[in-house]
Amino acid sequence: MANVVITGGSRGIGAAAVRAFRKRGDRVWFLYAKSREKAAALALATGAEAVECDVTDPKAVTEAFAGFGDVDVLILNAGIAHQGLITDVGEEQWHRLFEVNVHGMYRCICAALPGMIRRQAGAIITVASMWGQVGASCEVCYSATKGAVIAMTRALAQELGPSNIRVNCVAPGLISTDMTANLTADDLRELHEATPLGRSGTPEDVAKAMVYLADADFVTGQVLAVNGGFVIT
Ligand code: NAP
Repeated sequence: MANVVITGGSRGIGAAAVRAFRKRGDRVWFLYAKSREKAAALALATGAEAVECDVTDPKAVTEAFAGFGDVDVLILNAGIAHQGLITDVGEEQWHRLFEVNVHGMYRCICAALPGMIRRQAGAIITVASMWGQVGASCEVCYSATKGAVIAMTRALAQELGPSNIRVNCVAPGLISTDMTANLTADDLRELHEATPLGRSGTPEDVAKAMVYLADADFVTGQVLAVNGGFVIT
């Protein structure tokens, strides 16, 4: 049984990860920012422990991780998106995306690492996006944050390998969650036509890749695309 911490576990991909790791019998804590009712319902249904913790709040992150004990698997999934021309994004929104998607990840890594280094064991799984691999028009800021996540993953894998800590990334494509709920039927049809596997992914598709990376003892520094072939790098 592993101790698993998942950020952004209240909804979407993170909630599927909570269910998948609990199904294996792992002990799971998940962080969320606002969705108190959804988090409580998921905790009740799965036996996972929900912790209200906004990853943009350094003190809250430190306090949350102090309550977890040894973290074997850390899944850095909390993220937000924004669509718009680069000139329309605005400074505040630009910084907000980096604050959640990149700096929040950095904070959680720093909070979990001392224990992992002491025990010379651990697996970290970051969540990027196919747009972090190839970039997307009208999602320049989001793409930049996810590109940063991929670079962090690769650098950290090199830094932490000698401590027997693996760091890998999942890069989802189009996944049916609240984040993509604004897409119209026409948008979805076009996107599915451009996807070799011809459909949107499910949160469970991504959770399966997370479970694989949690167990893959000789895999580190990799970006595992879960995108139905939409982007093949
Ligand atoms: P989602 O359904 O919008 O869920 C986002 C999750 O992140 C929620 O649990 C949310 O908590 C949490 N969160 C957001 N801001 C937070 C903060 N400041 N502190 C703590 N938790 C926070 O998104 P999703 O589609 O599952 O996406 C999960 C990850 O996959 C994200 O990193 C996203 O960029 C990435 N991704 C998604 C897609 C896709 O097509 N869906 C594609 C590529 C990559 P609350 O419920 O409390 O708000």
